[in-house]
Amino acid sequence: ELPFVKEALEPHMSANTLNIHHGKHHNAYVIKGNELLAEAKISADSLEELVKKTAKAGGALFNNVGQHYNHSFFWDSLSASGGGAPTGDIATKIDEAFGSYDNFKAEFIAGGMGQFGSGWVWLVNDDSKLKITKSANAETPLTDGMTPILVCDVWEHAYYLDFQNRRPAFLGSFLDNLVNWDFANENLASA
Ligand code: FE
Repeated sequence: ELPFVKEALEPHMSANTLNIHHGKHHNAYVIKGNELLAEAKISADSLEELVKKTAKAGGALFNNVGQHYNHSFFWDSLSASGGGAPTGDIATKIDEAFGSYDNFKAEFIAGGMGQFGSGWVWLVNDDSKLKITKSANAETPLTDGMTPILVCDVWEHAYYLDFQNRRPAFLGSFLDNLVNWDFANENLASA
């Protein structure tokens, strides 16, 4: 389930985008992933553990489980009352790692633009330091020993209805209007 109603993020992310993105794309990964997990007789106590277990096998099983994890993390990275400069510990850590929020913003957008084709741009905690990283398809920094703090989906299905081909405008709007700093602070606290 989405952690907000489908209309909550308008006009920055439309209900129509969420109908397709959550209702069709994400749902297909959940259905296929559950089928493949049942066939493979794999289970785990948490989604994070399941991602790590299936990453070893790779293939369709990991692609579907990884996409479920990445999309769930993306929905939690969005908030109707989000966007703008951060507050709390994450603000201090961003200043430490990037020099300023404006530098962070430029690097995050450049990271999302530098992901050729479909994938994700992440803010992660790596060895007590924040950094920006990107991943392709279902890949996730969780399997590289890093703690995800925030993610933005840069597959075209995430922005095409609202922004057409303008990925940088979508990334700018994600940071200005939607990014959930409360979620980032929770993840930082448990990193
Ligand atoms: Fe997506």
